[in-house]
Amino acid sequence: MSNRVTDPDTQPDSGSNSGPDSGAETGPPATALRRALRILGDPWTMLILKEAYNGTRRFNDFQRSLNIPRQTLSLRLLHLCREQLLYRRFTSPAQGALDYALTAKAQDLQDAMYAVWLWHQANPGQADFLPFDIVHRDCGHVIGATWRCTSCRGAVTSSSVTIHRSQPEQIETEPRPRLSRRNDASFTAASSQERGTVAASLVGDPACNEILYLLFQQPRHMLGIAQDLALGASIVRDRLDKLMDLGLVQEEAQGRRLLYSILPRAEGFLPLLLAIADWGDRWCNAGQPPPDLRLHDCGEILRAAYACDHCGGWIGRDSLFIRPRQPVPE
Ligand SMILES: [Zn+2]
Ligand SMILES: [Zn+2]
Repeated sequence: MSNRVTDPDTQPDSGSNSGPDSGAETGPPATALRRALRILGDPWTMLILKEAYNGTRRFNDFQRSLNIPRQTLSLRLLHLCREQLLYRRFTSPAQGALDYALTAKAQDLQDAMYAVWLWHQANPGQADFLPFDIVHRDCGHVIGATWRCTSCRGAVTSSSVTIHRSQPEQIETEPRPRLSRRNDASFTAASSQERGTVAASLVGDPACNEILYLLFQQPRHMLGIAQDLALGASIVRDRLDKLMDLGLVQEEAQGRRLLYSILPRAEGFLPLLLAIADWGDRWCNAGQPPPDLRLHDCGEILRAAYACDHCGGWIGRDSLFIRPRQPVPE
């Protein structure tokens, strides 16, 4: 916390009163999403988890399938073990052979993983990069699924969810984790080879997620975003450009200022962000109350899951299987 005020990238713009002498805690309001992203918001983390979900277990197999530098992989696996998402186990004690297995905490993230898969599936030009199909065992169809409230079964959309900060408001006092430029560069190099990673790479960029999460709640001006998230204006500018490039956010003039809002294509990201926030509530609150509450239109605190569009049944790990991708009949 002591070095937070010296880091220009995490400071709001001048005009805010959060200088080093203002005394009170001056971080951004805590959110379940940000707490979860402290663990997941690294460009490689979701990709490594995705591989682990698909059955990859050994160091060399992760390395080959992700084309990730060995040292980066080694550090990321260490991080995932420390955060109790993976654990190391001996598969052949005599030969000292180790592999990495998913913990319950990682398996609990399954809805976020399906959200990534479904987003790529739904977006033209992205589905070609998916190497496998996820099939609903109950009805035999490749999943098409809708994120639904488990209480009223209504679809969960940005217009049907409201997010409230719980009171008293919790302030985020820990600095955001920083990525080394080298890590970033190695990710960019790898993802240009595996282009089917747009959703996963967005999750790996916490600022992008926090901005989307805010814009899902209401359109904002750039400085409003920067102040609310305690991010530097240059970072917000950069991420808004990225989100506009991806066709997720639009800008329009409102008087002399520019207003940013969500485009329909971004709606597919909402389940991903909400699933990650839910996971954050279950695993990342360290005994504190949830920092924000998400309410559905029906009045209940949102609990949501994917329901199959073919048979209507709920989708979970036990009701799915994965098979190599089969060509879609014309
Ligand atoms: Zn509901
Ligand atoms: Zn089904």
